[in-house]
Amino acid sequence: MVKVLYNGDIQEEVLQGKKIAVIGYGSQGHAHALNLKESGFDVIVGLRGGKSWDKAVEDGVEVTSVAEATAAADVVMVLLPDEMQPKVYEESIKPNLEAGNSLVFAHGFNIHFSQIVPPADVDVFLVAPKGPGHLVRRTYTEGAGVPALYAVYQDYTGQARDVALAYAKGIGAARAGVLETTFQEETETDLFGEQAVLCGGTTALIKAGFETLVEAGYQPEVAYFECLHELKLIVDLLYEGGLENMRYSISDTAQWGDFVSGPRVVNEDTKARMKDILTDIQTGKFAQGWILENQTNRPQFNAINRSENNHQIEKVGRELRALMPFIKKPENAKKEVVVN
Ligand code: NDP
Ligand code: MG
Ligand code: MG
Repeated sequence: MVKVLYNGDIQEEVLQGKKIAVIGYGSQGHAHALNLKESGFDVIVGLRGGKSWDKAVEDGVEVTSVAEATAAADVVMVLLPDEMQPKVYEESIKPNLEAGNSLVFAHGFNIHFSQIVPPADVDVFLVAPKGPGHLVRRTYTEGAGVPALYAVYQDYTGQARDVALAYAKGIGAARAGVLETTFQEETETDLFGEQAVLCGGTTALIKAGFETLVEAGYQPEVAYFECLHELKLIVDLLYEGGLENMRYSISDTAQWGDFVSGPRVVNEDTKARMKDILTDIQTGKFAQGWILENQTNRPQFNAINRSENNHQIEKVGRELRALMPFIKKPENAKKEVVVN
């Protein structure tokens, strides 16, 4: 089994006395900045004026422009949306990097797909929490953490690995476990996971189940509880103890249905399509499509997003959730918890 590192395995001195610029203060940015600060590190946040800037000021962190934060820092963590990173990097980060600095990412996309080409005289690594930013923050405050992957792309100083590990410890990830990967592996598995299983696979499965019931004449409210709401309760059991633990908790009837019907829904054909998805990721086809979509102002993204938000399951869900006050409201209405 690969070596998973925990707090006791990691020396953090290598990062003490260094200044860390966290660029961006969104889902990941706020969590990294606050966790690192509370872990005793010297943090400055780099932003443009706006919503995030105001929030960072409110939270009591030092904020300045991206250019100034980069110039002031030894370690520059880029937590801007992936599609914005190349432009901001060219304009404000690259001109302010110094030899021996660390250029850091939480996802390998832009380095792996050559959208950012770093200078040869900096360290380049990634520290990628395997969970949404709001949970990186929440678990830290609870004394726990979200596990993370780290990878070194370029080691100019000879210290890149040690700095990466100290950073991972600083955000609380080493409480849960930190393991080494490569930019290629992190990028390709992250994209595959979110497309085929975590986000794309799951939303498609939920909608198909909901539509099947509603089209057969069952009440949409019942279909919503059955196909969406209850999924959380099942996933909690999976998270705690794998498939076996979930199957222990459900009825034997449900377990028999799981065995005989699951493979009828997700079968060899489905797996063949998953392989196609993985091939598109590996060959850069998916990346190219997403880059072009952004360069043309997201015509398809916006159209699909509008129609998805109007799906019947969303309308029914909004009404039902409003009647369940114990359900925590999303951190921000636009963007709920996002798996990356
Ligand atoms: P968010 O969209 O949540 O936040 C982006 C931040 O960047 C905001 O603070 C935004 O500020 C700021 N920003 C956007 N454009 C600019 C600009 N031109 N100049 C300065 N600041 C700007 O991003 P995420 O946290 O989701 O993603 C950050 C990185 O982390 C990505 O690489 C992603 O792949 C990775 N990641 C994300 C995970 C997640 O949980 N979301 C999980 C693991 C990795 P403003 O308010 O001004 O727009
Ligand atoms: Mg049941
Ligand atoms: Mg992702």
